This record gives sequence, structure tokens and C-alpha cells, in this order.
Amino acid sequence: MLTEKDLFNEFKKILKLLEVNKTASVVKDSKPRSVLSVTWNESQALLHYSSKLFEITRDLLQIKSLIEHEVCHIITAPSTQVVVLETSDIGLFSASTEFVDIFREYIAEKEFVRRRRIAPLYLEAKKKMLSPDTVINQYRKGFTALGTEKFFAFLVMVSRIFYDSIYFHLVDNDTFVQWCAAAKAEGFLKLFYFVLFCDRGL
Ligand SMILES: [Zn+2]
Repeated sequence: MLTEKDLFNEFKKILKLLEVNKTASVVKDSKPRSVLSVTWNESQALLHYSSKLFEITRDLLQIKSLIEHEVCHIITAPSTQVVVLETSDIGLFSASTEFVDIFREYIAEKEFVRRRRIAPLYLEAKKKMLSPDTVINQYRKGFTALGTEKFFAFLVMVSRIFYDSIYFHLVDNDTFVQWCAAAKAEGFLKLFYFVLFCDRGL
């Protein structure tokens, strides 16, 4: 049975391995934004997790690679502060925030891939994070109900799935492509590539 102490031990080892010179702490969040995340200040790195983490996996090696990815956020982003476009349009503001988040995820994933090109357990965990039922349904409803004037609201709605799909692209894995094809949502895939790559020339 995996415990918080196991998470702490792994987190500590990973920080050392990746040469992040901070004290490790672990905290269970009751209202987490994600199942696993890392925040930090000058001296301390804090691993946040939710009970949902153990619904995704109870495999310590798999969790280890998820933590490694989160530590790559510390390595690639200078701070947790998100700088976005100043606007009174709440839709545009939310979409900008999501885009910045997606970009930060992209650079963290890229760093993770650079350090751990072959990470099959991480790949398996990422696959479990794609939840076709909810996302594809949201996607379909989004287009029919919102209309083009609510485009930003729609982007915010689906951006979480873009976020969880970046890794597949970076390691040339076709999970996301197959997933879109099976759901007859190739348009979603095109949007994904446009948002992530064409728009930024990555
Ligand atoms: Zn991440």
C-alpha cells in the first residue's frame, strides 16, 4: 500500500537526482487543480497530490515518472507566476491563461523527454489521463451550443485535453491521433496541432 511517506521519499530522491537544491515536502490537497503538482519557493519544493492519484495508479515507478515530470516544471519555469494579456474580456483572459499553461506544460514535457526519452510507465499513466467520454462530449456540445462568438470559452473548455496530449506528440506516439480517430474527432486533432505548433512555430 502506497503512502504519503513513499511519495516523500521518491520526491526527495528525484530532487537530488535532478540537482534541484530544495527541501522536499508533501501535502495532500483537498481541492487540487491536478492529481499531482509541484510548487516551490527559494528553499522549499512542495509536492501536492490528491487522492485521485491513487485511482490513476498505485505503481510507485509510474508515480515516480509523474513526479519527475512535475519537477521538470521547476527546472523549466523561472516562477509559478503566469503573465497573460491584460484585457477586460474574461473569455480572452481565461483562454490566454490556458495557453500559457499549455506552453509551460510543453516545455516541461520537452525537458522530461530530453532527460527520460524512454519512459513507458509515464506513457501508460498519460494514457489513463485521457478521458474520451467527458472530453469528446464536451467538445461536441461546445461547438453546437457555443457558436463562434464563444470561441475562447470553447478553447478553455477543451484546453485540458490539449494539455494532457502534448507528451504523445513529443515522443511520436499515436495515442492521441488514434483517440481522435476512434471518437471521429479529427477536427479536434487539427485544432490541437494548430494551437500547439502552428501558432507558435514549434
Ligand atoms: Zn506538467
